[in-house]
Amino acid sequence: MDKNILFKLTSLGCNIFREELLSKHCSFRIGGPADYFIEISNEEALSLFLKTINSDSFYVLGGGTNVLFSDDGYRGVVISLTGKLKEIVINREEIFCGGGALLSNVLNMAIKNNLIGLEIFSGIPGSVGGAVYGNAGSGDVWISSVIKKVGVYIGFKKKWLAKKQIYFSYRESSLENSIISDVCFSLKKTAENDSVATVFENVQRRIKTQPLSFPNAGSIFKNPKGFSAGKLIEETGLKGIRVGGAQISKVHGNFIVNTEEASAKDVLALISLIEEKIYKRFSIKLETEIKIIK
Ligand SMILES: Cc1cc2nc3c(=O)[nH]c(=O)nc-3n(C[C@H](O)[C@H](O)[C@H](O)COP(=O)(O)OP(=O)(O)OC[C@H]3O[C@@H](n4cnc5c(N)ncnc54)[C@H](O)[C@@H]3O)c2cc1C
Repeated sequence: MDKNILFKLTSLGCNIFREELLSKHCSFRIGGPADYFIEISNEEALSLFLKTINSDSFYVLGGGTNVLFSDDGYRGVVISLTGKLKEIVINREEIFCGGGALLSNVLNMAIKNNLIGLEIFSGIPGSVGGAVYGNAGSGDVWISSVIKKVGVYIGFKKKWLAKKQIYFSYRESSLENSIISDVCFSLKKTAENDSVATVFENVQRRIKTQPLSFPNAGSIFKNPKGFSAGKLIEETGLKGIRVGGAQISKVHGNFIVNTEEASAKDVLALISLIEEKIYKRFSIKLETEIKIIK
């Protein structure tokens, strides 16, 4: 990267790291170094960065809870939104937050202010930007259900998109090739707030059904229409199978866990094995939910 740009970004409050291990920035704890890892702390810096970088050579990372990085790392720049791009502001029944804000922090603010609508998403780790990009959800409820509008950078210019201008489906949105800098959630004020009980139930359910004691990236595959990917994997007898340090969780078939210094190669070998066995047995082609970054 151009030294002048790096200097300007630093003077705008960004932190810049060379050869930063991506394993430190994702929940799988897997991944080699990125040429550059830049923490972008405000919109001026984001706009400057986007003006000067080629779109093929950078990747925007949220909480890193839905990604698998390569063992060779990333040739280019990985950016993470921080500082002002993590702020959360409440205005009556709306919450405005930066794309880098943690979903759990937004939920906490909502609960404190008697705003309901987000509690169903409790226990989903990661950032608001990542959740909106992938239309994260719990059961049949998607985060798009509480979105009013989204601030995005397409190229280096910012636009606000109303919800109806964005296409959302199961774990998908039309926000590919854009950077989500802001999200406005539309919630409901209530005097009788039982959000805390819902959050508690959700967390208890997750503790019982998910292998949370090992690094993982959540569900590896999307559920095929009418089926649960986890149940298909379980029925095929694959739970507990290992390749190197990676294992198909014994607790939940749709989770792969990093039990001891797994490599991306180990995880990819398990993914291929599952895809092959499920296709052979059920003629169903599984689609990965996690983003595999080469
Ligand atoms: C234990 C566990 C449980 C989980 N449970 C659920 C669940 O119940 N439901 C569910 O839907 N998911 C679940 N997940 C997956 C994951 O937490 C969600 O998909 C989450 O919303 C991803 O957010 P993130 O910030 O970590 O995104 P990342 O993993 O950092 O990135 C995911 C994708 O979003 C893009 N992205 C991130 N930030 C931005 C941005 N600001 N602008 C544009 N694009 C961006 C990235 O480029 C990438 O393509 C779970 C994961 C774990 C580890």
